[in-house]
Amino acid sequence: MSLNVLFENIEIISPSDSIHERRNLWIKGDSIHASSRQEVQVDAATERINAQDLACLPGLFDMHVHLREPGQEYKETIQSGTESAANGGFTGVCCMPNTVPAIDNAPTVEYIMNRAKETLTEVLVCAAITKERAGKELAPMLELKEHGAVMFSDDGACVMNAEMMNRAFKYLKPVNGLISQHCEEHTLTEGFAMHEGTVSALLGLKGYPSIAEEIIVARDIMLAAHNGNCRYHVSHMSTAGSVELVRQAKLRGQRVTCEVTPHHFVLTDEAVRHYNTNAKMNPPLRTQEDLNAIIMGIKDGTVDCIATDHAPHAVHEKELEFAMAMNGITGLETSVGLAMTYLVHAGHIDMMRFAELMSTTPREILGLETIHVQEGAKANLTIIAPREEWTFEGGKSLSKSKNTPFGGFALKGKPKFAINRGMMRACVL
Ligand SMILES: [Zn+2]
Repeated sequence: MSLNVLFENIEIISPSDSIHERRNLWIKGDSIHASSRQEVQVDAATERINAQDLACLPGLFDMHVHLREPGQEYKETIQSGTESAANGGFTGVCCMPNTVPAIDNAPTVEYIMNRAKETLTEVLVCAAITKERAGKELAPMLELKEHGAVMFSDDGACVMNAEMMNRAFKYLKPVNGLISQHCEEHTLTEGFAMHEGTVSALLGLKGYPSIAEEIIVARDIMLAAHNGNCRYHVSHMSTAGSVELVRQAKLRGQRVTCEVTPHHFVLTDEAVRHYNTNAKMNPPLRTQEDLNAIIMGIKDGTVDCIATDHAPHAVHEKELEFAMAMNGITGLETSVGLAMTYLVHAGHIDMMRFAELMSTTPREILGLETIHVQEGAKANLTIIAPREEWTFEGGKSLSKSKNTPFGGFALKGKPKFAINRGMMRACVL
């Protein structure tokens, strides 16, 4: 049955339409049939939802997720990952290329896009910069772009060789391609288990110093400028120094953008004290000063968007001695709650900025169509309950993996419905 639903008196928040007001919103089929301050005459068959406590945003987009397919379907699949995304309120995600095999060839890009043709949550592809993400030889990026790849990154395997990175910028420049980097000088982080600082010293765990991230951020910003102001996107930025490097690059007029994860503005390395392996990720949780700098960057516009770095792992990869456990946590179903609680309700940003960080800006960075919340537009929307208080239960996650440090967290602001491609899904959290 085709979608036919009226949200009565819903708070619409749409940065691209400069709208923040209450309206009656009628969604029919795959589009917005009516959006009005006046009463809307609907069909007899229309489902009515009292939306007094709800807000409607352009569909949320997460530009950094690991869907693990092909090759590691025991952790996640495109099906389970997109269900988890829709359950968290996301109508679009961009998946990272560290699959097995890596997304470094056109058939793999096509395979993923085909697998996600009918999912509510759309899947876009970030392909590899180098073949097998090995840093030795460039992947056929132009061909990959023609087949639909919207961004390039070797993610966890930072492109260490400056000459290779320089060539990647030159190669993508004529087509205005977007390179993103997981910034990590691997010679400074070998064998790391957490952030290098007081807590790592106390626990006797090998540390990952902030400088290892910042050296690459600085180098790449210089290489992007050197090649004539190429576009460059810093993945999951985690240190105060990186925030400042991006801020300065933007002030100079460079086309540099960046994302931060919810865990980097909610938790610090203190969370590692009890050797909780769900507090282990890459980049690692940093200090309170880093967290404060990230929030400042979110407030002043240095930080462009929030991305989860959703990184599902199986129990046998996480329930290990801390140093042995894999890096990464799931994130698609906690992102809205954490950003609402720790950014909006904490008084750092308003709802319009929230919509930019979670939807319009990541879409703009990737060159995707602008979502309008207007009569006649395609209905690509996320409905949230901004003031609803709830407790996250990891067990309710629709991801195949449950590696989250946020189980039991009291949150304010909850995803309620994801709407896209003529489908609507009620979030169950
Ligand atoms: Zn990464």
